[in-house]
Amino acid sequence: MIYGRCAACKSQRRRCPSDCIFSPYFPPNDPQKFASVHRIYGGSNVGKMLQQLPHCVREQAANTLYLEAQCRIQDPVYGCVGIISKLYQQIHETEVELAKIQTQIAYYKFQNQQFEAESNLSSLAPQGNNMEMEHFQWPSQALNYSN
Ligand SMILES: [Zn+2]
Repeated sequence: MIYGRCAACKSQRRRCPSDCIFSPYFPPNDPQKFASVHRIYGGSNVGKMLQQLPHCVREQAANTLYLEAQCRIQDPVYGCVGIISKLYQQIHETEVELAKIQTQIAYYKFQNQQFEAESNLSSLAPQGNNMEMEHFQWPSQALNYSN
């Protein structure tokens, strides 16, 4: 690459060799990326970690170290764990909310079933017909009372 020294070599004020371990993952146009991992892990430790890994996962490792370093800078006590805990808390609160809503739905369904059952019963035995049956009189009885 003709871009000059990588961000790591620039910050360490050294010559960037052609096989520099940092060069592919810490480009000179993003000095903050190396500054963050250097601050949290130390530049030489990051170099050692990358060297122990196969080439295919080095970029992912460098990006993960960067993310973790940023979290640790923002939250020195908990780092990434702080974000994970907040997300677990949100999941828990949402599950509680969901359980409440499911209970409400079950309650309203039950109420609706009871209402339907009651209205079916009243349509089978309407009150109006009962009243008419109670006041029915045979014509002969009506005659007897009038005498
Ligand atoms: Zn370099």
